[in-house]
Formats: sequence, C-alpha cells, structure tokens
Amino acid sequence: MDKRLVVTRFAPSPTGYLHIGGLRTALFNYLYARKHGGKFLIRIEDTDLARNSKDAARAILESFAWVGLECDDEIIYQSERFPLYASYAKKLVEEGKAYYCYMSKEELEELRESQRAQGITPRYDNRYRDFTGTPPSDHTPVIRIKAPLDGEIVFDDGVKGRICVQAKELDDFIILRSDGSPTYNFVVAIDDALMGVTDVIRGDDHTSNTPKQILIYQALNFSIPKFYHIPMILNPDGKKLSKRDGAMGVMDYKLMGYLPEALLNFLVRLGWSYEDQEIFSLQEMRELFDAKDINSSASRYNQEKFLWLNQHYIKACDDTRLEALLQEFGAKLDEYEKPIKSLLFSALKDRSKTLVEFAAQLKDIQTPPKSYDEKMLQKVDSSALGVLAKIIDEEEFAQCFCALNPSKLESYLHNYAESSSVKIGKLMPALRLALLGKGGGIGVCEALLIIGQDQSIQRIQALLAHLS
Ligand code: GLU
Repeated sequence: MDKRLVVTRFAPSPTGYLHIGGLRTALFNYLYARKHGGKFLIRIEDTDLARNSKDAARAILESFAWVGLECDDEIIYQSERFPLYASYAKKLVEEGKAYYCYMSKEELEELRESQRAQGITPRYDNRYRDFTGTPPSDHTPVIRIKAPLDGEIVFDDGVKGRICVQAKELDDFIILRSDGSPTYNFVVAIDDALMGVTDVIRGDDHTSNTPKQILIYQALNFSIPKFYHIPMILNPDGKKLSKRDGAMGVMDYKLMGYLPEALLNFLVRLGWSYEDQEIFSLQEMRELFDAKDINSSASRYNQEKFLWLNQHYIKACDDTRLEALLQEFGAKLDEYEKPIKSLLFSALKDRSKTLVEFAAQLKDIQTPPKSYDEKMLQKVDSSALGVLAKIIDEEEFAQCFCALNPSKLESYLHNYAESSSVKIGKLMPALRLALLGKGGGIGVCEALLIIGQDQSIQRIQALLAHLS
C-alpha cells in the first residue's frame, strides 16, 4: 500500500477574484487531503508579472476564510521562484535533456508559414536539437526540452480513465524563454514535484497539458502524481457558465446573502455524489469525499437547488449567528426582547431563501406602511374595519401580546370575528393591509406580535384614518 502523505494543491492563476469553478476545484483538493490526513497547499501561478498577485492572493484567501477552508504551509508564489526554474532548465541542458535554440521569431514564423502552405500542422522542426556548431551571436536563445521522438505518453486519469498521447504529437516545447521567464508546463511540474504533490485535481481544460508536464517529471526524475481532470460546470442549458448564470466571484455570493456552508454543499454536489444524499456538512464531506467518485460528465449549475440549500442552512443557523450575519445586511434587531426575536427568526427563516430576502422582509415588518396596496384597499371590507376599530381597545387583545403566542392570538381573532359576524377571511386581509400595507409575507398573528401592541395599534389607526 502507498504510504505517502497525500498532498494536494490549488494553483490559481491570479485573476483578481476566486470564481465558483475555482472554489469547487479547491474544495475537491481540500477534501481529498483532509480525508487522507494529508496536506492541502496553495500556489499562486503568477508568472505573468503584469498581474497583481498579492491582491489576487488576498482575494483568494478572503474567500477561503469565508467558506472555512484552511490551507497548510506557506503559500507559494511562482513569481518568486524564477531563479529556481532557471536552474532546473540549465540542469536539463547540462544533462543533454534540453538544449538552447537560437531560432529567431522571424525564422519560426517563416517555418510555420511554409508548413501551413504544405498543409501540415505548424511545429518546431528540432533544428537545434543536436546542434553542435557555433551559435548565432545576435540573439539570446530559448531553452527547449528534448521530447521523445516516438512512443507514447500514457497516464491513468482518475476521472477520465487511460489517456494516451503519441509522442510525435508533442514538439520540443520551450521551457525557458529568451527573457529568462519559464513557461507554464515547466513550472507546474517542478512546483508540484517540489511541493510533494501526490494528487492533482484540476479542471479538464488542463488535460492536454498533462503529457507535456509528464515529460518534465520524467526528465527531472520526479515522481508523477495521480491526475484527476474534472469536467467544467455548465449552465442549465449545457453551455459554458457565464456571469449571468453564476460564474461570479465567491465573495459576491456572500453579498447576495448565501451562507458559506450552502455554497460548499452546492459545489460539492456539482460533479460528486454520495448515494442520493444532498445535504453535507463540511465534516461529512471531509469524511465521505473520494476523488474516485468524481463524475466524468459535466455538471450543471442549478440555481433553484442552490437556493433550496441556502434556505436549509438559514433554517439550521442558530439565532445568535444569524443575528450577527443579518447585521451585515443592515438588519436592526437590537430593539427586540429575546422571545420576540426567536418568534421573528422562526417566522422569517421559513420564508427566506437568502439573507438579503430575510433582511428585506424584516425591514418590511419594521417600517410602517407609507402607502397601501391599491387592490387590497379597494377590497377591504367595512365590517372588518369596524372590528379593527373595536378590537384595539379590548383588554384581551392586549393580553395576547403579553402571551406572545401566535396561535392564541389567532383563536382570539377567530372568535372575535365570529362573535361580530365578520368572516375571518375578511378580517385578516384588512389587518395585514394595516400592518404591512400589502399582501404576502409572514403570518398576520406573527406580524402583530413582532410589531408589538403599540405600533400595531398605531398602524391599524393609520389605516382607519386613511379610509375615513
Ligand atoms: N493555474 C491554472 C489555472 O488557474 C491551474 C493549473 C493547475 O491546476 O495545474 O487554471
């Protein structure tokens, strides 16, 4: 049995924010490492120096902190490792496994043109592979790897199965450019090896890079990790995910009122399943996730399911945490006594798919109506208004507020309506209109108790005044 410590990594190219596809890749790597008691590392692939890697790393770490994925060891920045990559390129030259190529850009273009004219795929023609003459002195060479001339490169992908590429399809690709900067496939292989990465889980847009990376591992006598290339997340129509469908920054989901555990649960199910279970805590994911169960077909983003999960986690959220979260959405909850607060939470948890919705509904309850829904206003029953006018002075009505029991209040209203020969179906809409100004939203009795006796009476009086 292989006793090596499992090491996985997430290796984003810094694009400023972490999008959900990236977070899913990170999550799979994280879970796999945690399940095996291994390490999960982060490497920032910022060899493109024009980009601002520190900010990107900060944005990524901010997202990780929000969703609760912790990484092990220091973050590695490729931009800080150029001398290391150059030393490996030189080592390969010294060992005869790579070589300087002095071909100018113009010559390369000329070659490509003539190959295109002959109807063959443009590729480098190995002209400096075994060059022993005096090199041209007028420009700095690149370093190219000596790719095998025949045979095949084979690897067993953990998701896609056996992948076999003919060596002749790979040319002697550049590993170090003439300005000394290393190329992508070269640095990925070096870093994965030096970081001790045993399992590479990444998007399947990297499948075609893998044979090239394998050549680097082989040339440097590094052991080759196990690869898992995961299919993209598609939109509900099976097309590439766009911003509109949800290809947004992870932190945008925070602003839209999603809970981090809902996002992780949503993402883990995009491309992985465990029996027919839908709800997974992070702890469960860590125990149950296995890279070999990653789906080989693309998954689809399903907004309804995401909202369903989010509501599930809002309902499961304890009130203290929920209160703190809601404050970030401008919700004001200080004024409520504890029992009213719990009534409010249980009423709104049932009706909110996001924290934004929760805070908006709370605001609707807290704000006395500035206007009334026209249709409801026209339908309002005058005998129901008569009941409202009387009920606000009733002692028992006042007592219902002290009892803080919505069902008690409801039966009181039923009985009162009945004894006044007013249908409850007329009374409740009138009361709702007075309290909230519109239809929908939480139950009328819950609304009354949350709004409180004085404020409810004022709102009822305001409607009566409006209609008099
Ligand atoms: N930097 C690459 C990307 O962001 C990932 C490379 C890899 O995982 O090997 O797509």
